[in-house]
Amino acid sequence: MKTRYSRQELFLGETAQRKIRNGRILIIGAGALGSSSAEMLARAGVGKITIVDRDYVEWSNLQRQHLFAEEHAEQRIPKAAAAKQRLEQINSHITIHSLICDIHGLNIGEIVKGHDLIIDASDNFEIRLIANDAAVKQGIPFVMGACVASYGTTFTVLPGETPCLHCLFNHLPIDGMTCETVGVISPIVQIITALQVTQVLKILTGAPIEPILKSVDVWKDERADIDVSRLKNADCPTCGSGPTYPYLQYENQTKSEVLCGREAVQIRPAATREFILQTFLDKLKGLVGNPIINPFLLSCEFAGHRIVFFKDGRAIVHGTNDLRIARTVYNRFLQYYTD
Ligand SMILES: [Zn+2]
Repeated sequence: MKTRYSRQELFLGETAQRKIRNGRILIIGAGALGSSSAEMLARAGVGKITIVDRDYVEWSNLQRQHLFAEEHAEQRIPKAAAAKQRLEQINSHITIHSLICDIHGLNIGEIVKGHDLIIDASDNFEIRLIANDAAVKQGIPFVMGACVASYGTTFTVLPGETPCLHCLFNHLPIDGMTCETVGVISPIVQIITALQVTQVLKILTGAPIEPILKSVDVWKDERADIDVSRLKNADCPTCGSGPTYPYLQYENQTKSEVLCGREAVQIRPAATREFILQTFLDKLKGLVGNPIINPFLLSCEFAGHRIVFFKDGRAIVHGTNDLRIARTVYNRFLQYYTD
């Protein structure tokens, strides 16, 4: 046991190891970046890791999402729950919290509280900007990371020091590309994870952080490090002199959204409540096909669509990119749940 962290301690020192043990880290997203950084940080001995994700494990995830196995895809286990299970096998001496929910501007404040650092491992820019607003508002360092195809980028926001994501927005290569439309290969995920986790270890142990936007294309063998310190915008609505934190405002909260490239729509009800999934499935008997139920969600075919219904009332309706159709299917489905 004493030797568990010995190799890391030889490099960083005993004091640094203690600081790592006291670290409390929030990882937003349990996809490829999230599962790899969670695994590295659990092995490094970070004392508390919270991992939050809204999705469940699918077969197409197994190629690059290191914490998941075939059984998780077969049973459609939510990624955050599957990640917690595996991380606890890797290190039983640290605390792992999993949150199965959709992050939005109105709940992120509570989720972020009590953490020293936030890792962005999400798959879309809206969530990144919401997290950026919350991080800057609460003065918590935020390590952004994004990958698509063979390309990845990372930047660390230190509130009050560096520019924030909002300042850099027009300088980030976003293009609207996602892993679902152009794919992604595993090595770029590992490179960006390695860069992110290095930043985390540096911040936790008090090493200096440079305001460098790093980009790598592993296939083209290209790399760019750009000093972005001059891009800090004094009028930035997030980190400027009169912040309004636009992504935390009520009017910017989407309730239904098309999940890009997946032919699916996510519906988030205005108010959450707890559904008893087995009771719901009993009421749906004869109306649905191929049901799969686990402690977190109910997945079945209904009205020509596959609907994945989480116990807080959130759902992913597959087989359409039309918000109106998805909402109709969702409302019809929900009619069968009566207390
Ligand atoms: Zn800013």
